Amino acid sequence: MRSHLLNDTTTEHYRRSVIQGVERVAATLAATERPFTGVTPDALAPSIDAVDLDRPLGDTASALEELESVYLRDAVYFHHPRYLAHLNCPVVIPAVTAEAVLSAVNSSLDTWDQSAGATLIERRLIDWTAARIGLGPAADGVFTSGGTQSNLQALLLAREEALARGADPARLCVLASECGHFSVQKSAGLLGLPADAVVTVACDASRRMRPDALADALTRCAREGRTPMAVVATAGTTDFGSIDPLPAVADLAARHGVWLHVDAAYGCGLLVSPTRRHLLDGIEHADSVTVDYHKSFFQPVSSSALVVRDQAVLRHATHHSDYLNPRRAVAERIPNQVDKSLQTTRRFDALKLWMTLRVMGADGVGTLFDEVLDLAEAGWRILDADPRFEVVTRPALSTLVFRWVPPGHRPGGTAAASVPVPAPGIGSGSDTRSGHVSALDAANLHARKALFASGRAVVAGTTVHGRHYLKFTLLNPQTTAADIAAVLDLLAGHAEAHAHLGETLVHV
Ligand SMILES: *Cc1c(COP(=O)(O)O)cnc(C)c1O
Repeated sequence: MRSHLLNDTTTEHYRRSVIQGVERVAATLAATERPFTGVTPDALAPSIDAVDLDRPLGDTASALEELESVYLRDAVYFHHPRYLAHLNCPVVIPAVTAEAVLSAVNSSLDTWDQSAGATLIERRLIDWTAARIGLGPAADGVFTSGGTQSNLQALLLAREEALARGADPARLCVLASECGHFSVQKSAGLLGLPADAVVTVACDASRRMRPDALADALTRCAREGRTPMAVVATAGTTDFGSIDPLPAVADLAARHGVWLHVDAAYGCGLLVSPTRRHLLDGIEHADSVTVDYHKSFFQPVSSSALVVRDQAVLRHATHHSDYLNPRRAVAERIPNQVDKSLQTTRRFDALKLWMTLRVMGADGVGTLFDEVLDLAEAGWRILDADPRFEVVTRPALSTLVFRWVPPGHRPGGTAAASVPVPAPGIGSGSDTRSGHVSALDAANLHARKALFASGRAVVAGTTVHGRHYLKFTLLNPQTTAADIAAVLDLLAGHAEAHAHLGETLVHV
């Protein structure tokens, strides 16, 4: 069994095994005609259940052969130009190379004595990101597993800062827009905030937080004796890609002395955009920022960071342990990243971004992101001109939310003005309403499911004002306007077939 341990005596086995894996993936990618096979959980489960985990196959080639049928054949492939569903990007090759390096060396970023150079590389990348944001000389931060963890840590720091100023924990609240990410709500629960702690701020028709609504909410909180511990602005909402008016929001947060967190999990790609960096103007006023490199920097999962304006606040995440990061290490100036992180053992995910910047450069990444933003604009024009569909709003980033409408039901005027702002409530919520699904909702729901089952394209769904909508999240520069048009034809075909099957459309 020792031949399977990676060390100085097994490098040949290592080389052969990894190359076999790489060859297998390369062959699969080259032959993938659809983003998905359409397999159902029930159809796939038996082959995975049938694997006897107590009877090993003994060699890589056999295990890879088996992997073909239990995973690779039916995986959902984000690199395919007709995968248009969630915030998953195709990944860049330098990052995949880095992934192979970092798992083989297996540094753990908790302490210097487990990571050496890796710690310094991560620190450089945090400094680089903070400089791109414009956070100033005292900025710091740490890589995390994703935007959810980054948001949780941001709110933890904000809570501790509020408590340090004497706030009553039972009176704390967080202000976020109705289009904010659900992890804000989840974090509030994890942090033990009161059940009603997240105060929802209304959005305008473009799904941006309304500064007047934020001002009202801040005043109301004060009147009710509540202490806002953070305003969460979103730079790129998950459904609409909308960017809250950061300068106005920052101004209000500053006037009320409230921590400003900017959730740029999606919009962070603008930090490297050669043409659209200005869309993030105002982000430099944040106290903390969430960035997901695994969304708009074309990095493999996981790759995310929390960046803060003032490194001192990271002490709220510090715990000194005699065996790992004793207090004296601070005096000895030993850089232990665990002092800043919610995690202990932690992957060297930063290496992926490092390799990407060293091979392609920031402009290279930003150009790819620009390409998908241009594509989204083209997609919006296609949808807006297509009488079969109604599109909610012009994209600020790269999502398009729309629905199929039967002939003769399309509202007049521009689509942007025609769809009401959704009812209050963080995120878009569940996609069923008390069991009642109108025929129009049913046709859109069916179109998405039928398309998924066909495997010819994958799109997402969401609700707007309680109604079913379809969603494209465009993150693949290989996707073309022709792909978008073709997928719309497929969706319309499924929706029409369903509508004709059912009774006449009465609920619109
Ligand atoms: C995706 C997303 C998150 C959550 O990030 P994960 O990496 O999935 O944990 C948070 N906020 C926004 C705006 C997002 O789009």
